[in-house]
Amino acid sequence: MELKERDLLEIDFNKTKSYGNKILLLNTSVSNPWAIINVSEKGIIEYLKKRVTFKEINDKFKNYERQSLKDFLTYLYDSGILKVSGNSKFGNKLSIDRSFTSVVIKVTKLCNLKCLYCYSPKEIGNEVSIMDYGTLRKIIVSFEDIQSNLPKFILHGGEPLLRFDYIEKIYKELNKGSLKNRIDFNIQSNGTIMPTKVLKFLKNNQPNVSFGFSMDGYPEINDKIRLEGKDIGPSSQILKNLKSLQKNKIFPGVLVVLSSKNLHHIEEIFDFFIEHGITSFSTLPFFPSGRGKQQTELSIKPQDYFVAMQKLFYKIYKHNLKNKKRAMERTISTLLRHILTPFRDYMCMRMPCGAGLNTLAFDCNGDVYPCDDFLGQDKFLLGNIRESNLHKILSNSKPQIAPLTERSFSSVGCKDCAWQGICGGGCPGTNLAFYNTLNHKDYFCEFKKKFINFLFELIANEKIDMSVLYAQ
Ligand code: SF4
Ligand code: SF4
Repeated sequence: MELKERDLLEIDFNKTKSYGNKILLLNTSVSNPWAIINVSEKGIIEYLKKRVTFKEINDKFKNYERQSLKDFLTYLYDSGILKVSGNSKFGNKLSIDRSFTSVVIKVTKLCNLKCLYCYSPKEIGNEVSIMDYGTLRKIIVSFEDIQSNLPKFILHGGEPLLRFDYIEKIYKELNKGSLKNRIDFNIQSNGTIMPTKVLKFLKNNQPNVSFGFSMDGYPEINDKIRLEGKDIGPSSQILKNLKSLQKNKIFPGVLVVLSSKNLHHIEEIFDFFIEHGITSFSTLPFFPSGRGKQQTELSIKPQDYFVAMQKLFYKIYKHNLKNKKRAMERTISTLLRHILTPFRDYMCMRMPCGAGLNTLAFDCNGDVYPCDDFLGQDKFLLGNIRESNLHKILSNSKPQIAPLTERSFSSVGCKDCAWQGICGGGCPGTNLAFYNTLNHKDYFCEFKKKFINFLFELIANEKIDMSVLYAQ
């Protein structure tokens, strides 16, 4: 951008925070622009509040070299908090994709494990614990009628690989004609089942078929949480399967539920993952849902969560400084992306979240919900895909979806928070689990407040190179 004498300059921020001799100027709009200035530049910012032209500010701050002043104003413009003759770098609003990007499908409720906190709301093994072929087929083809790009279909359970033959059959049947290479399956498994036929299927259909599994730490921890119903834990089998996957150049993402059983060992868990070639993983704090409602002792405190994630942050940072293959944890990299870019592609960290807008969940019997956090809850049941079509179900879904889409920073008590555009205000599903209401301050608010502040402090003081935290 080339500044001209008559360009009108308008500064656009509503929050400030001090970090030593640096000041963070922040605009809490969706795209959350910010800039960090030196205390000595405060006078220029005050003057900019008057809406002045470049010529006026240049005349006022004669002691500044013209080019330095230009550079400073260009930095403010590039940061998105200075409008130049009505133009702003990011515009007023971010355009967020309103199509469905991921859909959870419970292909079975049956499972070979019995994890302490399983979120499955019903007892396993009952008569509606398997989704039939026609229902799965109908779900997939239904999306062709409502949008041009199909969402990612996340095949969940129970343990979805207990139904591998059915998954393979439907993929083969549908992956042709107009749907050729457009079906994207992500199988979310417990990692204990990996016969050769599954390996072959995963290998031959990458990247359209991806795989992820859950593991809550090294065997001594994981086997205490992810019980098999017997004395032997599942870890040795999971690690054997992981090796087979890696040998076939399949590198699964790993999901770690953080609970009181593993939170304090997060650094050792990271070392264990790296030792076993796991560089991409997501952490999710335990929340009391399904069987987990009876396991309140697994809950973690937001402050402890913050301390653990700080440790994990430094572990990842140090690892990435030394290694070509970078490590990445989803919560950390999403918060950083929200700070460093205007993109908000992760539906669980924006307001309103993606429930019913970017995601849906299908239960084994064909029942449709706005997100898998609401599975089995009658209040959020949108309809049944076996009895109706998706178009009709969605057209009649306003009463159930509105309480989710109408949530706002005000309704959840985040209106005055400086970090709202970065944090997104929390998950309504987690709110229901903790407080039995959609509109409540997020249980993990303290973690997010402290962690975002911690990241800004590092940025302001230029303590670390944030780009190292991004995966390659
Ligand atoms: S309800 Fe929670 S899990 Fe579901 S889309 Fe919203 S934030 Fe994400
Ligand atoms: S949950 Fe906490 S950190 Fe997040 S926007 Fe609300 S007040 Fe801010």
